[in-house]
Amino acid sequence: MCKNSDSFKCDLCGSNSYIIKNKFNMRLSLTDTPYNLVQCKKCSLIRLYPLPEPEAFENIYENYSSKNKRLNVEKIRLKKVYPLKLKKLKQYSKGKRLLDIGAGLGTFVYAAKKEGFDASGVEYDKNQCEKSKELWNVDLISGMIEDHYKKLGKFDVITLHHVLEHVYSPDHILDIVYKLLNKQGVCLIEVPNQFFNINKEIRLIFGRDFKKTKNNLHHLTFFSVKTLKNYIDKDRFETLELNQFRSPNYEGSFLKCKVRIMYRTIINCFELSGGDHIELYIRKL
Ligand SMILES: [Zn+2]
Repeated sequence: MCKNSDSFKCDLCGSNSYIIKNKFNMRLSLTDTPYNLVQCKKCSLIRLYPLPEPEAFENIYENYSSKNKRLNVEKIRLKKVYPLKLKKLKQYSKGKRLLDIGAGLGTFVYAAKKEGFDASGVEYDKNQCEKSKELWNVDLISGMIEDHYKKLGKFDVITLHHVLEHVYSPDHILDIVYKLLNKQGVCLIEVPNQFFNINKEIRLIFGRDFKKTKNNLHHLTFFSVKTLKNYIDKDRFETLELNQFRSPNYEGSFLKCKVRIMYRTIINCFELSGGDHIELYIRKL
């Protein structure tokens, strides 16, 4: 069923027409909530609608920094994910001034500093800023990028790890990224791919996913490769590289790893590409 609403305005294309995606509502246990997942009829972007007031999901962010699981994930990313990203950023970027927007526990800023970048980060959650200092001796700028960007100067590299799915307007944040970057500056974006990858579909068949999904209410946008690509204004940015990958924090036993490698090989053979994460490297023109 297609609906038109004066209050619905697609962040990506500005259209007012949307379709309610019941299939995705069910996966996120949104059936008893006032929220729906809706798809823009014009550009196919999936978003939560209506967008919750900040107070409605503030309790989800409470204790975000103290969750052990989060720190474990960060430690795995520090070891297995960030080195490769930093290597690529070094190849793509001429300069070393780096800003991590939504820096969380400051782990990426710490890793970037170690690799010789003049790195800083902005994080709105005060608790995470404190943790960053405690864990890595990294001082983050506390607050929203919207409030700080005018006084930060220009950067050669900007990174956004799992940020765009949380913000009210990804379009607005990308506008700020454009303003903050030097000419030829590089931006790395990573977002989850929650609904448009074959891995998830297969795990769903076996009922292994979307069981504890209430946390997903704090995601406001659900990207696909197509919609993330469409966010990149081709007059302002060029795409350097787009990858999909499965997060290493799900790695299990040796046997499970073997099974997974076989499974990935089959998926790749049939070009059923897909991964839990999408990463995109772009350069300002
Ligand atoms: Zn749209």
